[in-house]
Amino acid sequence: MGGRYARVVVDVPNARVDRHFDYMIPDRLAGVVQPGSRVLVPFGPRSVSGFVVGQSDAPEVAEVRDILDCVRDSPPIPEDLLEVATWMSRTYLCLLVEALRAMVPSGTKVESSRTVSLKVGPKLARAVRLVPGAGDPEALVQSLSRRSPAQAAIVHALLERGREITRAELLGTMGYSASALNSLVRSGIVERVDVTVERDPFRGLPVEHTAPPELSPDQAAAVAKLEAAMDSGGGVVVVHGVTSSGKTEVYLRMLERSVRMGRQGIMLVPDISLTPQMVDRVRGRFGRRVAVLHSALGAGERLDEWARIRRGDADVVVGARSAVFAPVPRLGVIVVDEEHDTSYKQDESPRYHAVEVAEWRASRAGALVILGSATPSVETYYRSEIGVYGRIELLKRIDDRPLPDVHVVDMRAELKSGNRSIFSRRLQAHLAERLASGQQAILFMNRRGFSTFVLCRDCGYVVTCPNCDVSLTYHARMPAMTCHYCNHTTPVPDICPSCGGERIRYFGAGTEKIEDEVKKLFPEARVARMDVDTTRRKGAHREILTSFRTGRVDVLVGTQMVAKGLDFPSVTLVGVVSADTALNLPDFRASERTFQLIAQVAGRSGRGPVRGVVIVQTYNPTHYSITTASHHDYRRFYEQEVAARFETGFPPARELLRVLVSAEDEPSAARAAGAIAAVCRDRAAGHDVSVEVVGPAPAPIERIAGKFRWQVLLLAADGCALREVAVKGVRESGCAGRKAGVTITMNVNPQSIL
Ligand code: ADP
Ligand code: ZN
Repeated sequence: MGGRYARVVVDVPNARVDRHFDYMIPDRLAGVVQPGSRVLVPFGPRSVSGFVVGQSDAPEVAEVRDILDCVRDSPPIPEDLLEVATWMSRTYLCLLVEALRAMVPSGTKVESSRTVSLKVGPKLARAVRLVPGAGDPEALVQSLSRRSPAQAAIVHALLERGREITRAELLGTMGYSASALNSLVRSGIVERVDVTVERDPFRGLPVEHTAPPELSPDQAAAVAKLEAAMDSGGGVVVVHGVTSSGKTEVYLRMLERSVRMGRQGIMLVPDISLTPQMVDRVRGRFGRRVAVLHSALGAGERLDEWARIRRGDADVVVGARSAVFAPVPRLGVIVVDEEHDTSYKQDESPRYHAVEVAEWRASRAGALVILGSATPSVETYYRSEIGVYGRIELLKRIDDRPLPDVHVVDMRAELKSGNRSIFSRRLQAHLAERLASGQQAILFMNRRGFSTFVLCRDCGYVVTCPNCDVSLTYHARMPAMTCHYCNHTTPVPDICPSCGGERIRYFGAGTEKIEDEVKKLFPEARVARMDVDTTRRKGAHREILTSFRTGRVDVLVGTQMVAKGLDFPSVTLVGVVSADTALNLPDFRASERTFQLIAQVAGRSGRGPVRGVVIVQTYNPTHYSITTASHHDYRRFYEQEVAARFETGFPPARELLRVLVSAEDEPSAARAAGAIAAVCRDRAAGHDVSVEVVGPAPAPIERIAGKFRWQVLLLAADGCALREVAVKGVRESGCAGRKAGVTITMNVNPQSIL
């Protein structure tokens, strides 16, 4: 405890300085600098910010400099989170400083001036809008789309939004081009304005206080088991419950119990803007004692919430992945809803998995982790099978409502019998029936845009991205073709760029096309579309869901956004327009993703008193993902899938580590990957546990955003050996660092290996 010296990790993301350095705490900062404080220190000729990770009485080196200043307007990072950071850097092979950054509210940067303070988001933000009276914007989009699709896209975005958009959002989140924006400003179509940054979108909304319902016998049994686990020191328990079995009510009871015991609870949801209903339910129960960590919070608001949580003034914290780092003083329970969701794994450094962090944090705090899902990930369920995790099953829906009837339609047969529509006759008939009887339907299509590729009938040319190894998607609303990886946008060709032929055809339906087809078949139907393109604007998602809930929309078309957590009792039909989009991906989780998507989206049907129907359209009607999902048979799916994983040796049979090498030119990427694989093989041979090295090979998507990608996969039952071999491989191959334009990333148990 205490000490005149502080151990500081400087905020410089470089492996060579990624350790602590000793600094003297000057008298004027005595008692202010503590473990977890953010400080300003001299570092070489510069002064840099850093994190205090410990204190000592004796420095490790002879010459020690003074800490210059310490941030006072934010409390220090709690010590348990400093430990989480250390653990993360070892587990996910990231820099310690990257892990420490994850512990503080994002967007807070230490600023040095006369006194140091955290610089948080400005109250005013730079924004742009269409100049009023600059001409008919629809006509502008048309005329610009040929000359400059990038400019047309911006005008279109502003038009859709109907008011100003901040530059940060337009160029950052939405990814439009700065030069196109500047041209629009120069030509007087768009003008710059300052806007005040919006506040927490939930703060203004009233909280409807809800009384807890009486638990069903199954729920009561689940709660009793979870309470017993909580009382005996925590651990991890899987709550495997079919959709609408009342899992959320079980979570709420356990959060309440943790609060009664004077502890705090964290509830993780896949994407908070996609789950407004869930946030409403938690707020309905806990009112103002809920802290909601939302990406739409400004940096200042985020800092305020962080400090409030740190003081213990919030009983329950709700948020996406990074809320697992909420600085609650006494952790009682962490609930992970839809635990199978891929968003719990961060795909940039630090590449942590929130479930693993939750498990580690809870084990230190004696807290309980609840992993809830109707479709647990194969890895999670496997751990419950071998007794590492506990497991509770909720196999019936609330009020004994039946699970929906699922019909699998073989689209090959449809084609043979002359139906060329993207909707089978059965789906059309069911849609007609719902519309006639005033019930609602959801149509699920896991691809946005109008068509996923554009092909020349004469020469077979497919319009592809110049920067990526993928075809461009045609967006009819823009209208333009864009790349879903790098946002490259170009006009739609009317003659083939390769042979000059005029027979350009569109293939592979996306959500826009589904929307149009429904309107064509049922002109009287009110249709809404929910995908990334229609929900860019803040609040748009909530608006679409509200129109659907209040019956102003009959048919909701959407991507996996509609598969998550929606509870609309009058939806009695779900159509999975193509079950095959994920099935054919060259990834070991392709079958699992397909099963999960079908089961989750099917679960949106028949949640009210009327029995639901699900129509699954597929070209692979006998694939086990599809047959088991159509029978709501998780167990049979799991058994087939886990057997396949043990045959191939992928998780959960062994742990997987992917080394991805990317470079501007293919030979550099291939050469570096080859060198890494060779050292890994050499190290693996000398190891006493078996580590398999696969590759080097080009990644399934060989190029993204102009970078060629090669990979080496390592598989081992022992995670330590796996990491050791990979780290040595990268280090000793001489390819480490970013020299020669080669970027190397290591990802432990990646969610996808595309
Ligand atoms: P899940 O999270 O498993 O999908 P929910 O918790 O959303 O299920 O429950 C489904 C529906 O049943 C919700 O509308 C919820 O309000 C309702 N419900 C849950 N538990 C009960 C209960 N014990 N009594 C009455 N209604 C309940
Ligand atoms: Zn691209």
